[in-house]
Amino acid sequence: MTEPILRVEGLKEYYEANEGFIESLLGQSQWVKAVDGVDFELYPGETLGIVGESGCGKSSLGRSVFRLIEPTAGSIYYHPPKGSDALAAGHDEVELTSLSSSQMRDLRKDLQYIFQDPFSSMNPRMTVGDIIGEPLDVHNLASGGERKERIYELLNIVGLNPSHASRFPHEFSGGQRQRIGIARSLAVDPEIIICDEPVSALDVSVQAQILNLLEDLQEEFDLSYIFIAHDLSVVEHISDRVGVMYLGELVEVGTTEDVFSPPYHPYAEALLSAIPEPDPLWEGDRILLSGTVPSPLDPPSGCKFHTRCPKVIPPEGLEQETWRGLLDFKLRLREAETLEVLTTVETEAEAATRDRESFERRLRAEFGLPAQLEDGQAERQLTETLDVLYEEDFEAARSTLEAAFVSPCEVHEPADVQMSDSHRIACLLHDERYERGELEASAPSDAVADD
Ligand code: SF4
Repeated sequence: MTEPILRVEGLKEYYEANEGFIESLLGQSQWVKAVDGVDFELYPGETLGIVGESGCGKSSLGRSVFRLIEPTAGSIYYHPPKGSDALAAGHDEVELTSLSSSQMRDLRKDLQYIFQDPFSSMNPRMTVGDIIGEPLDVHNLASGGERKERIYELLNIVGLNPSHASRFPHEFSGGQRQRIGIARSLAVDPEIIICDEPVSALDVSVQAQILNLLEDLQEEFDLSYIFIAHDLSVVEHISDRVGVMYLGELVEVGTTEDVFSPPYHPYAEALLSAIPEPDPLWEGDRILLSGTVPSPLDPPSGCKFHTRCPKVIPPEGLEQETWRGLLDFKLRLREAETLEVLTTVETEAEAATRDRESFERRLRAEFGLPAQLEDGQAERQLTETLDVLYEEDFEAARSTLEAAFVSPCEVHEPADVQMSDSHRIACLLHDERYERGELEASAPSDAVADD
């Protein structure tokens, strides 16, 4: 394989959640871990898709890679290709986080960014010609007639008309504005472009046109792309390799073929199952993920996906499906202050006549638990929890349940497992130590990072 054009190691992007002076002074600041130790490579001429639900940290990752926001930690190595005449010429490798802001500004000629909403990054009082010409001015690349010619050429390249140069951004459709944004990025003849949700605000037919344009430009100008999107079908269409991101971490990275064929990371599998199938007779299993991405302010212990994972590893003696329900019960009980939040299937009239037996029946229905757990010891512990819960002793119920049922996924942070040269997955199910029974569950507070 050729050398990467970009290599990212241990990248972190943390934001301070409370900016109060007193909290900062007392060292009590809370940190939102938007990107939490990400490694990847980008190879020349390829498209690396980064996919995940909204709130998983994709855009923070893109912005910190090009230092549009300053990374908290980590290294970003850029290997300028031969012929690059930016600051990096003559250097084999430039570490971006070590550059001053003026050095970084010079290097932006090689490293461009396309935003989801190009309109918000355009000055509405500037003509399209001046918007596209601005990077030419900043980097002293052309002036006078040459500048004008270059602007016309760029408009042609992206499928617009040179006569559009004298018009203003508000006169254009969403797709045309994205073409203007692309022309502006191309003006400086870049090497890498980060495309941050470039088509997610567009109609499907326009999406296809912009994706095709990006592919044509990549071939013509030998560009490397990092393509960020929440829509896996878009990512599949355009990417050579894909990184699946969850709560600030890359949980699966591989070629598009690797990621779209088994074995999957359970999160990637759920995203894949949600792609609308063009065949109306398709009856594949759709995996519905409960809830939304948890807050990065207080991420779950162990594997961050365990609060939603359809394959979360059960404690000994429990079936997987039963365990998902029991874990959902445990998670909801952590926040519960009334019995009603635990039995939403119950009507008001039923709640008024609730007795111990009906309470248990409705609670089991709510969490998909059988009338009797398969494991006798587990059933006794659940019954004990329900007894104290019925008496509204939430603390006692919580401590009984927390102590009784713990999954390895709540305790151990999964390390990357290399499935093949090109494919890695961070999930305990693929870890040899799980197969060998070495990943014991202990109290969740003992969560450990595994090498
Ligand atoms: S480690 Fe556990 S919770 Fe995380 S993805 Fe794998 S099975 Fe699911």
